This record gives sequence, C-alpha cells and structure tokens, in this order.
Amino acid sequence: MNFIDHNPSLETYWRSIILLGRNVASYKFSLAKTLLEIPKNKTEIILEDLALPFALNICDHLKTNDKQHTGPSNKFLSFCREYNKNQVNDNELKKHSIKHGFTYVLDAFHNVAGGEVPRFFENVKNSNRGIILTDNFYKLFEGEQEKNLNLEVNSRWKLWETAISLKINPNLVEINSDLQNEVLYIFNDKNRRIDVTSSRDGLNGYQKGKCFYCQRNIQIEKGYENSCDVDHFFPHRLKSSSEFLNINQVWNLVLSCKECNRGTLGKFDKIPEIIFVENLNKRNNYYIESHHPLRETILNQTGRTINDRKIFLNKFYKDAVNKIPAKWKPKEIFRDNS
Ligand SMILES: [Zn+2]
Repeated sequence: MNFIDHNPSLETYWRSIILLGRNVASYKFSLAKTLLEIPKNKTEIILEDLALPFALNICDHLKTNDKQHTGPSNKFLSFCREYNKNQVNDNELKKHSIKHGFTYVLDAFHNVAGGEVPRFFENVKNSNRGIILTDNFYKLFEGEQEKNLNLEVNSRWKLWETAISLKINPNLVEINSDLQNEVLYIFNDKNRRIDVTSSRDGLNGYQKGKCFYCQRNIQIEKGYENSCDVDHFFPHRLKSSSEFLNINQVWNLVLSCKECNRGTLGKFDKIPEIIFVENLNKRNNYYIESHHPLRETILNQTGRTINDRKIFLNKFYKDAVNKIPAKWKPKEIFRDNS
C-alpha cells in the first residue's frame, strides 16, 4: 500500500473529507462549498447565516441533477425543488434549511474512513446554533488554494451526483477522457455520453494545485499566467503505434505547468525520467486506494493488482523509450512552496 503523505497536511485532510467521505446525500459537498464561499471575517457563524447559502448550493445542483440523495425521498430536498419552482421564498427556504438541512452533516463532516480528521470547525449546539471556524480552517487558505479547492468540491460533487443518478456506485464509474475539450465523461445505460467534469478539476485532487513534475503552484482555471496544461505523461505522439493504444486515458494524464509541458527546456514529446514513472504509479494507486471516482477506470486501464500495474507501467516505459529515446526532467523542482 502506498501513502501519499507521511505527515498529512491540512489540505490533505480537507481533501479527504471531499474525496473519501461516504455520502448518502450531497450535503457534505454543499457545506464544504458554502464554507469556502462565505466571508471569513468572523470565526463564529450561526446557522441563520449558513442556512441560505447552503440550501442555495443544493438548489443550484438540483437544477442540473435532480438526484441529490441515495434514498427514496427527502423533505429538505423536496423543499429545495419547490424553491426552484418559485413556490417558496428565500426566507422560507432559510427556515427549512435551519430545521432540516443540518441534521447530520455538521456532526458527520469530519468523519473519514471510520475516524475523524482534524476539525475545520466546531459544532455549537446552544440556542444560537452554528459553527466556530478553527485555526485549521484559516490555515487552509494560506497556500492560495481557495479557488482550486472550490473547483475540486464542484468536480467531486458532479461525479457523485452523476453516478448516483445512474444508479452506479460512485466508486465504479468508468470515466473516459475527451482531450480536445478537456472533459471527463461517462456513458449512461443507454450508451449516451454524459460529460461529468473538466478533466483539470478531476485530476487536481491528487496534485493539490502543484505541477506533477516540478511542484510549482498551478491554477486549475484557465486564463491565468500559471494556469496548468493537461499533459500526456507518455507523449501523445506514441499513439500511432498499436502498443500504445490507451495513451489518451486518465491513467496517463497529469496536470503540468506550462514551463514543464512546453516552455524552454520543456518536455514536449520526450519521456519523463524513471522517478516520474514511479510517481505516476503512486498517483494511480492513490486513486484506486482512496476510492476516488477514477478508481475503477484506472483499474481497468492499468491492471487489477499493484503488481500488474507496476508491470504495465514498466513495459509501457520500456516500449516508449525504445520508440523515443529522449528522456526529460524539469530544470528545477520546487519543494516546500505551499
Ligand atoms: Zn512544472
């Protein structure tokens, strides 16, 4: 078993809540999104202030995906649907959200894999019910990852709701990649394509806003100076040979800074050095072991056991170097720049 961090950072804990939590409803996603979006100038947030943005995030998702709960029916969600039909107003939605929206989510938010991660808020249960944001919560934003964290919550939420609306276990979704449009998609039971999420958002969960190769901070969203590229680890050019057929699949896609991908001394069509092959193997194993929605996809693409996947990557590396005998590593690796 591989572990991603020996000393998990706060970001890792936050991500584990979003990526690893088992969800019967989408409330955890909505709460995470709400916490990222609300003004952070005071540590105590009463339910009165949390309730409306929390409910509105759910209303928003209901508009594109009516399934937000794995059970048959749910009072709070019915109310949110009525809001979307203009049958209830903001104030009524808020009241209902205070009463029914937070029944489990505040207590369960920090539960991951049968344990509890360091808390990002304390749950206050006196007459003025609400939460108190902890230092951990504020420290999360010191790495300027707010926007990336928000995109990630959305991405995971979309994967989750798509899977449950198709009655597929979210851990079993077979995800395909449309490279041109940088979109991950699945086929539904009628074999129709459904776009799930931008591949950038989907892949960032592991890389934590860092370039796969040089560890420089990257932005997931397009249009910034340090916006990332979706990079083929083994170059796309190999595709012309039959032994490299599944090169366009998620197992071979990473997020890279522009300098590494195509800058001076960039990678272009070269093959990354063996250390990065090991990192790719670690990344793919992480997706599998963490029950990430990409799990089943990567199992199918690269092998069912740790050993199979190692053999697969080793062979791919050997064949790739025989085809393109030019290895590459980044000019510099940026450590501790979080
Ligand atoms: Zn880089």
